[in-house]
Amino acid sequence: MSIFKASNYAADLIEKAVTGYDLSPADIVRLLSISGKDTKTLLAAADSIRKQYVGDEVYLRGIIEFSNFCERNCLYCGLRIGNPKLQRYRMMEDEIIGTAKQVKERQVPTVVLQSGEDSFFTTTIICRIIQRIREETGLIITLSIGERSYEDFQAFKKAGADRYLLKHETASTELFQQMRPGCKLESRVQCLRWLKGLGWETGTGNMVGLPGQTRETLAADLLFMKQLDADMLGIGPFIAHPDTPLANSANGDIELTIKMLALARIITRDTNIPATTALGTLDAGGRLKALQAGANVVMPDFTPFKYKTLYDIYPGRTDVGSPAEIIAKLKNYLASIGRTIIFGSGYRPGKTINSPTNI
Ligand code: SAH
Ligand code: SF4
Repeated sequence: MSIFKASNYAADLIEKAVTGYDLSPADIVRLLSISGKDTKTLLAAADSIRKQYVGDEVYLRGIIEFSNFCERNCLYCGLRIGNPKLQRYRMMEDEIIGTAKQVKERQVPTVVLQSGEDSFFTTTIICRIIQRIREETGLIITLSIGERSYEDFQAFKKAGADRYLLKHETASTELFQQMRPGCKLESRVQCLRWLKGLGWETGTGNMVGLPGQTRETLAADLLFMKQLDADMLGIGPFIAHPDTPLANSANGDIELTIKMLALARIITRDTNIPATTALGTLDAGGRLKALQAGANVVMPDFTPFKYKTLYDIYPGRTDVGSPAEIIAKLKNYLASIGRTIIFGSGYRPGKTINSPTNI
């Protein structure tokens, strides 16, 4: 019998998921189609699973977007090689290390190094950056630099990085190929399996609202996240960029994105799920909604101001102000929903946790 107030079929499906039974693709499609009070019930269920499995604390990851050069031509992204309007930048090694030190100074224990696929940053250079950040700051390092070889993943791990974010973007082979010309879903999934095999904490995820995407594709996205046993999940709305071939496409739907996030929490239980910047870009309250529907991570942007606006993956990214200001604001709005920032390492539960300090 259901404890949730929702239509019978929705309540039954939500309860099926909450009690740990596997949802079929058809079940997920139905849940992605619910609305009104059924949606409220779904989000509340995700919120209580989040509380039960990963607690009320919100983990921070400081992100540094160190290069907007990209050799890929993804239809959705402003950094695509086919966008001549974008002024390109690369942060040099000392600048990256200096910025990582600011992450450390703000007591944020982990740094995410993100960029386009930029072969200027060879294996040797990336390894040196990783080693220096480890030696000079002790920060936990997450990489998000696209598809690389098995040997690269091995070398980066050996150098001291141990988390990798590589969103699968969409679990539809055809849509993937259409959206990422010259790339294959199979190769991206291979990278994810290598990462898991090498012991990386592995993040994947998708975009919600890509043109041509269906609810069936979204169900496949969620089942893929579960099947991979991913440790981190990035789920954000697609945002149309004016200088890309998808300029005239509609943006992803916020409610559908939040439902995806809620289902991801219910299905995967103890993963780390950020309230993505893309959500906050389309809806000022988007990140707060996400944090109340299963999310438990926020990623303040530490990229130096002069580069921030050039990291133009999608338009309208909103995190203005210094990292200190962003974190102070975050602390206030988290307090408004009874949550606290935790300056801990934020490994997926069951993995090593360095004694975190609450504030
Ligand atoms: N080059 C790396 C990392 C940088 S892109 C990679 O592609 O993996 C980081 C993420 O930005 C991508 O995973 C994608 O999901 C997201 N992204 C790109 N364009 C976007 C858009 N128009 N709207 C929303 N998210 C977008
Ligand atoms: Fe490059 Fe990543 Fe943008 Fe694709 S999504 S164009 S790989 S930065």
